[in-house]
Amino acid sequence: MSALAPSRIVLLGAPGAGKGTVAKVIKSELGLAHLSTGDMLRSAVKEGTPVGTQAKTFMDRGALVPDDVMVALIEERVSDADCKGTKGDVQFLLDGFPRTLPQADALADRGLGPHKVIYLNVPKEVVVARLSGRRTCLGCGTPYHIEHRPPQKAGVCDVCASELVHRSDDHETPIRKRLDAYQQMTAPLVGHYQDVLETIDGNQPPEVVANSVLYAIGASS
Ligand code: ADP
Ligand code: ZN
Repeated sequence: MSALAPSRIVLLGAPGAGKGTVAKVIKSELGLAHLSTGDMLRSAVKEGTPVGTQAKTFMDRGALVPDDVMVALIEERVSDADCKGTKGDVQFLLDGFPRTLPQADALADRGLGPHKVIYLNVPKEVVVARLSGRRTCLGCGTPYHIEHRPPQKAGVCDVCASELVHRSDDHETPIRKRLDAYQQMTAPLVGHYQDVLETIDGNQPPEVVANSVLYAIGASS
């Protein structure tokens, strides 16, 4: 990693903006630990932990999980060894956190504010189409789309051969709720982080988005 590359990055954008896809690219380029709160919550649900049981009722209806639950989850996760830089500093690539101003304040209060915030800007009708056709691998989380990116064999992941599912929150009513929650609670973070914000047009082919993001974080050669 270049000495100047940011070591705490936050991905911001509506559900379906492509944060997960961009996260893979940044992770492979900078080697930062990828902290996806959606993935963390879904595995907590699968394992039936107390956090998972509590979170599921919110997630299924497309509502945000309460801030105190999310802050505790992230606080614990950033103390893991893979979030330690060589100088003992905390490093990460956050995907899905912070999603509210109090969550952003919780990071700042702990001295963990991001050096760079990548904002993926995608029109609302595009994210609705992406989410309603999305199918997700139960094994590795790879996203597919029934029209734009179908798997080679219907219902089966190309990468790990696990089953593809239609996430319970990728249906019309919860999608609308998630977009409302995004507009009300998360969109204000764009202004909050304006000094460290890089806005990327997320309504382009994935490889174009990936290149723009790498350029924005100074990792492109
Ligand atoms: P998407 O970005 O496509 O909505 P995620 O996988 O990031 O999906 O998150 C799924 C759900 O998990 C959200 O709708 C919300 O209920 C919950 N969630 C994830 N991150 C947070 C967060 N930081 N604060 C509150 N709820 C969260
Ligand atoms: Zn898979």
